[in-house]
Amino acid sequence: MPIPQQMTLASHNRGKWAEFMRLVEPFGVTLTVPEPSPSDLVEETGSTYLENARLKAVTMARTLGVWTLADDSGVEVDALGGLPGVQSARFVSDDPWENTREILLRLMEVPWPRRTARMVAVVVLAAPDGRYWWAEGRVEGRILLWPRGTRGFGVDPIFSVDGVRSLAEVDDAEKDACSHRGEAVRRLFGGHAIPGAE
Ligand code: IMP
Repeated sequence: MPIPQQMTLASHNRGKWAEFMRLVEPFGVTLTVPEPSPSDLVEETGSTYLENARLKAVTMARTLGVWTLADDSGVEVDALGGLPGVQSARFVSDDPWENTREILLRLMEVPWPRRTARMVAVVVLAAPDGRYWWAEGRVEGRILLWPRGTRGFGVDPIFSVDGVRSLAEVDDAEKDACSHRGEAVRRLFGGHAIPGAE
């Protein structure tokens, strides 16, 4: 897979931007802000992370004529049968805190050993001609009993990898080293990208 030095990121999520900028830097890549906004151009209608990420990356790459990086991600809670999964950003609301609270409420009676969960990310890099490459990353953890910490975004305050601290309590380097998005980006740019074509 060719690695262009500049690409746009099909997201206006501030939390994701901060992470992606850090994660692609070791590969000599800089990210540019897409105009118009990805959410104006693409609706996430797919039923898998790959479909949604591919839809965003390929549509933006073709429309803007620039190499585009996109991801789709979610949290899968075992005691909820894998919910909210692909629907994580739209579980009961568009508001991340409402969705986080809903997960905690639904797990109120669920004891610690059964609070296992994972975060999954699929990252897609698309070329202006429609070719694309992708990689997946995942991180196993548990849903805490209550939120902890002020860093990060989404479900970071209730997701714990070590069973004690949430991802909203660890520093950036620690989250990047273990995160689903970190793994997906390292696989994508590190020689393990899976090619696809429209
Ligand atoms: P997306 O923007 O469609 O990829 O959905 C992301 C959603 O999945 C967020 O709203 C969170 O609920 C969850 N999520 C995915 N990755 C993360 C992460 O790194 N930290 C916290 N929440 C995440």
